[in-house]
Amino acid sequence: MQIAIDGPAGSGKSTIAKLVANRLGFIYCDTGAMYRTATVMAQRLGLDYGDEAAIMAHLEPLEITFKPTADGQLVFMDGVDVTLAIREPEATNNVSQVSALPAVRANMVARQREIAAKHNIVMDGRDIGTTVLPDADLKIFMVASVAERAKRRYKENLVKGIDTPLAVLAHEIEERDRKDSTRAVSPLREAADAVRIDSSAMTIDEEVAAILKLVQEKRQPR
Ligand code: C5P
Repeated sequence: MQIAIDGPAGSGKSTIAKLVANRLGFIYCDTGAMYRTATVMAQRLGLDYGDEAAIMAHLEPLEITFKPTADGQLVFMDGVDVTLAIREPEATNNVSQVSALPAVRANMVARQREIAAKHNIVMDGRDIGTTVLPDADLKIFMVASVAERAKRRYKENLVKGIDTPLAVLAHEIEERDRKDSTRAVSPLREAADAVRIDSSAMTIDEEVAAILKLVQEKRQPR
């Protein structure tokens, strides 16, 4: 079974996708982490974030792997732990440029399909329902207001000791949404057959329960 969860930055996709995967005993694949890893690779090699040829020369052979642990999923780039690095502002603020490169997308989509072919999976991202897994059994499109998303990011940051003002976070979120929605290749878009969930006024438990109910309905159609 394939479950696709798409939505804009900070809509809570990954939190929910992880919990749903756990409850169902499925693999969880965070495709955003893969684009972020490609960005950290470019950063560490000193490559221009728009230099498709140079990025591809290094990305093709690059191994990106996930390791589930009790404290969450670790991300490795050629065996090096980049779990924290991919969440740094440098990666967050440049990932949209790297992820807009067509060859980077083609490479990532191929990797994602390969993972999905082998497992029952919950995959989250921007183009999973539209491009990566167009035949997914269930497609969710998660949305939340910019104000709510900025507030969530603010709280997450405080835990990490980062104190960026709310207004700056709201601006960064809007900017990333704009870039992700307007790029030429597989932009952030709701699939025609997706179920839209607005999480602005929902608790995490409510969101998970809503998705599990939809899974149940898919498994036992009335
Ligand atoms: O989900 P997350 O916010 O970690 O994703 C980081 C970035 O990766 C997004 O802003 C987007 O540019 C890119 N992305 C993408 N396609 C996906 C997942 C993420 O372009 N399927």
